[in-house]
Amino acid sequence: MVLPEFEMLFADSVEETCVLLSQYGREAEIVAGGTDLFIKMKHKRLIPRYLINIKRIRGLDQIRYDAGDGLHLGALATVQSIKDSAVVNKKFPILAQAAGVLGTTQIRNLGTLGGNLANASPSAEFGPPLLTLDASVRCLGGAGERLISINEFFLSPGKSALKQDEVLTEVQVPDLPPRAQGIYLKHSLRRMDVSMAGAAVFVLLDGDVCREARIALGAVAPTPFRATKAEETLIGNKLSGDSVERELLDEVARVASGESLPIDDIRGYASYRTKVVAMLVRDALEQAIARARE
Ligand SMILES: Cc1cc2nc3c(=O)[nH]c(=O)nc-3n(C[C@H](O)[C@H](O)[C@H](O)COP(=O)(O)OP(=O)(O)OC[C@H]3O[C@@H](n4cnc5c(N)ncnc54)[C@H](O)[C@@H]3O)c2cc1C
Repeated sequence: MVLPEFEMLFADSVEETCVLLSQYGREAEIVAGGTDLFIKMKHKRLIPRYLINIKRIRGLDQIRYDAGDGLHLGALATVQSIKDSAVVNKKFPILAQAAGVLGTTQIRNLGTLGGNLANASPSAEFGPPLLTLDASVRCLGGAGERLISINEFFLSPGKSALKQDEVLTEVQVPDLPPRAQGIYLKHSLRRMDVSMAGAAVFVLLDGDVCREARIALGAVAPTPFRATKAEETLIGNKLSGDSVERELLDEVARVASGESLPIDDIRGYASYRTKVVAMLVRDALEQAIARARE
């Protein structure tokens, strides 16, 4: 399979990228790591005349944490750099977990956070964890800068809230309450495959009561999404580590999988995905609750 012909343009700044995007319109496409884009081009699902390479833009790969202000992940931060980041592992380990199960080492070294989100795949690995973290996406375009809540970012398969001339510049993650715990689990046929189902959970306990819970699912609906009915089923309940808790977690997992809308595709049947996602939610909750009790 060969790539269609294209011209590569190198942008030195986000502003220059915006100018090129509005100059060439639908004929142009941003390329970062190229791990999603070049596959689409090889399959002729996208044939841009111009590729705007943003890899040379300085500072866009930064990972920065400020107490009180939270985590700032540059769009060009590679998946591997997120997996390896000391501050991510310490403060937001759920993001390192997602990075650690994305593709292979080669893909992680090339692929970027911005590309993973802008590609807007239903199975985008960073979607569910960022949903549980209430993250925001910063972008710059011809009309200026704006911040999009991650809850409003994914619109449909392959479509995000980014406008044609907008560049995703940064992902912002607010600080978490102390003792909050999150877990991301994924299921795929082979270790390196894109997920068949993914679940991210976040829990905050107050003694043995669940004060806050967020549950987000991937690859089981047109976009990654928050399973809010499942969250409501859990919040406010006592978690005493007994059979009542086990029954409650079974119920939460059942409600979460009931909120999913999986399809049959090359990676698995919808009926199988529905079962798998319930198991992922159940396991992730059990692990997060165990950590929250430590
Ligand atoms: C073998 C293989 C395994 C994979 N496994 C996984 C997996 O397990 N989980 C998973 O989630 N993904 C997986 N992927 C998909 C891919 O590697 C990731 O989504 C990666 O993070 C994409 O980043 P990129 O920089 O390569 O994006 P690119 O391919 O460069 O870009 C993807 C899209 O985003 C746009 N874009 C990129 N950066 C920006 C920006 N800053 N602003 C606006 N638009 C932008 C591009 O125009 C393009 O449309 C896999 C891919 C391969 C080839």
